[in-house]
Amino acid sequence: MNYVSTRNGNTSVNGYQAVFQGISTDGGLFVPSDIPKLGLPRIKGKSYAQFSAEIMGVFFDKSDVLSICNQAYSTANFSHDRIAPVGEREDDCYYLELYHGPTCAFKDLALQVLPKLLACAVRSLGRSEEICILTATSGDTGKAALEGFKDQEGTKVIVFYPVDGVSDIQKLQMVTQSGKNVGVCAVEGNFDDAQTGVKNLFANQHFVNELLNRKIVLSSANSINIGRLIPQIAYYFSAYADLTARGDLQPNEPVNFCVPTGNFGNILAGWYAKQMGLPINKLVCASNRNSVLTDFFSTGEYSISRDFYTTHSPSMDILISSNFERALYHFSGNDCDYTVNVMNELKSKKMYKVSSEMLHLMQRDFSAYCCNDSETLSQISETYSKTGRVLDPHTAVARFGYSRYVKETGDTTKTVIVSTASPYKFADSVLRALGSNSTEIDALNSYTKTEIPAPLQGLSEKDIRFKGVTTIENMQKAAFDLLGNM
Ligand SMILES: *Cc1c(COP(=O)(O)O)cnc(C)c1O
Repeated sequence: MNYVSTRNGNTSVNGYQAVFQGISTDGGLFVPSDIPKLGLPRIKGKSYAQFSAEIMGVFFDKSDVLSICNQAYSTANFSHDRIAPVGEREDDCYYLELYHGPTCAFKDLALQVLPKLLACAVRSLGRSEEICILTATSGDTGKAALEGFKDQEGTKVIVFYPVDGVSDIQKLQMVTQSGKNVGVCAVEGNFDDAQTGVKNLFANQHFVNELLNRKIVLSSANSINIGRLIPQIAYYFSAYADLTARGDLQPNEPVNFCVPTGNFGNILAGWYAKQMGLPINKLVCASNRNSVLTDFFSTGEYSISRDFYTTHSPSMDILISSNFERALYHFSGNDCDYTVNVMNELKSKKMYKVSSEMLHLMQRDFSAYCCNDSETLSQISETYSKTGRVLDPHTAVARFGYSRYVKETGDTTKTVIVSTASPYKFADSVLRALGSNSTEIDALNSYTKTEIPAPLQGLSEKDIRFKGVTTIENMQKAAFDLLGNM
């Protein structure tokens, strides 16, 4: 499979080159040059690793992916032997549980794979430099990247997180990270500030050259890297195959997926699955109070001239959804010039508008809903009293969006809610929703009698390794300081 840049149709690179570079030199994102149709692979008798290797083998070197998936999706890393199980039907929907990995959020599904893909890329491209993963995080990416890359030879990881934009537990998870090759620093500002700061570092020639002198090249673990997106396609297929295998879906019966959305990576992987032939009816895009995408899908106007809110679902506190560029590229008929113009407009005017034809095309595949903080908390409480399931705030946003969707459309298509995090990562918000005054993990455990995920046990007793805070202007220095200590 070859990959092209969303901003220049003449760039064509292979999968390993695309993963190695992270982002195209023209500023565009890599997308598969064609999206082949695939029949639904059988899942019976296969591990998740074997199943996902069949999907990923379409996009990356088949001879590498099986061993990558076997290493990534093992019970050494995941606490559930099905890796990405779909629960029984409850409260008129199914939950696809993507939080059984080492950091208790769905980003593990991709970030356990990416380091191994990168290692193959380095080998296959014959590179000798070290790779420095430089990432901005709204909470979950950072920790998942740290866990995925820690002590992996030939790599270093630097994570910047917004100082007030992550949950206490997310922060603790990051600042206590073990490993020789890792560094973490807080940034004054919100996630978009941190992400912009990181993008500026990538574009800063002085910074890049200084690293090159040290034989280090930069790469990204954000979902702008196609190596993050492709592994996520697999669980849409596996969820469908699981439901079909147990008779909850008839062969070829359409299904909806409802996805709590921030950077538009997860839901775009679902759209790729649909393009590959998976019978998906609607992809329901659920946002929190930062409702840029909901507004876009109703008006065709993407505008970031608006207030930014920190919410109970911090991993979706985003105004600029990076992966939306990929969607714009595909829905414009793979038109690079169009994509460049739109992205320039976003930069200069802080907004753009797509044609009504294009909006209609997008609305055929996507519906979008948003959910404010108090609705999020009510949803957690309502679902808990109805079913006993404890939703994390992101999944609650999706569950709320699904109710709205059904109310508005009357659609009775069976629906899978993509459940992206363990409620224990957001214990304070979840406890508040359940009417408790406590904020601690242990309190959530005694209140709900659910099990504390092993990776989150004993967090507060761990040593805090990373205490640094930087302004956006000083991120370069902060990065050098962290590198100096690795
Ligand atoms: C990152 C994240 C999301 C948003 O996913 P995108 O791919 O950025 O749209 C949703 N929920 C949780 C828990 C996350 O960590």
